[in-house]
Amino acid sequence: MNILAIESSCDDTAAAVVKDGRTVLSSCVSSQIEMHTIYGGVVPELASRKHIEAISGLADKALADAELSRADLDAVAVTYAPGLIGAVLVGVNFAKGAAMALDLPLIPVHHVRGHIAANYITHPDLEPPFVCLCVSGGTTAIVDVRSYTEMEIMGSTRDDAAGECFDKVARVLGIGYPGGAPMDRLAQGGDDLRYELPLAHVTGHELDMSFSGLKTASLNLIHNAQQKGEPLDLPSFAASFGRAVSQSLVPRAMAAAKAKGYGKVAVAGGVAANSRIRADLQAACAQSGDQLYLPELRYCGDNAAMVGCQGYYEWQAGHTAGWELNAYATRDISLG
Ligand code: ATP
Ligand code: FE
Repeated sequence: MNILAIESSCDDTAAAVVKDGRTVLSSCVSSQIEMHTIYGGVVPELASRKHIEAISGLADKALADAELSRADLDAVAVTYAPGLIGAVLVGVNFAKGAAMALDLPLIPVHHVRGHIAANYITHPDLEPPFVCLCVSGGTTAIVDVRSYTEMEIMGSTRDDAAGECFDKVARVLGIGYPGGAPMDRLAQGGDDLRYELPLAHVTGHELDMSFSGLKTASLNLIHNAQQKGEPLDLPSFAASFGRAVSQSLVPRAMAAAKAKGYGKVAVAGGVAANSRIRADLQAACAQSGDQLYLPELRYCGDNAAMVGCQGYYEWQAGHTAGWELNAYATRDISLG
């Protein structure tokens, strides 16, 4: 079954063709980062407009790269939530038009379910159930992946997402946007114990997390150093920050894995590319005996291959949509 998949929920326009849920025949991503960089963050209306310009050509390129024609397609899958509403609407309407014109089923895909499915591409042997740590620009949650289409959030951030925290701190340091990857690179060789940063706990909800205190403490530390004219040891600050984020995420993911007892832990989303978090999870799983599944770096951030992969399993579960399909800025992962 060949699925044309479309993703436009934030600042990447993406199209892919995925065969039978696990084989990526093509994956095209057009990033808008350059345009948004001058503003230090994504400007929603500009994002929507760029998606409109790019999406049709990108879908044609995905078909050409897969060496298929429109007649070879069996379904169209699309991210319908969550995301910037104007941006998601572009993908949903394009997918509707394509499915209608080609007389194909339309499959709505939850973006974070897509991030989780990126692991199926990298690991052909991975099957649910497993526990997945979902960490990206807008999401920080520990998810019980009971089956390909039944999921429940076990814990989540009460405020900022981990990726958002990376981005805001990096912006104040002036090291680029989005800031996660530059912070990760900067942290190499730094002393992760040099700066003490706070770790938050949500009393009574041991799997929930909070990153706003870490963000504020980090911004205060940077501003205080700037005001006093004291140079900040940037690699050590970035390493200390990465350690703090990882120490919030990894022990909770492992506690959730222990509670479920599946013996399998996966990671998903843009922040899953973080080298410190990957290393800490590797060490924790080596100790607990859980099998760890890390997505390939190119499938950590937003892409459409992950949408085509999850779309296949949604289709198998009978989750197709009519032409009235809407887009949603927020949507619980358990609702699909
Ligand atoms: P969501 O998936 O929750 O809707 P999003 O789609 O905007 O949000 P992604 O594209 O999945 O988010 O991930 C982008 C985030 O990942 C950014 O916050 C970025 O800084 C972060 N990121 C990317 N690489 C790294 C890295 N190596 N270390 C830490 N963070 C990273
Ligand atoms: Fe994402």
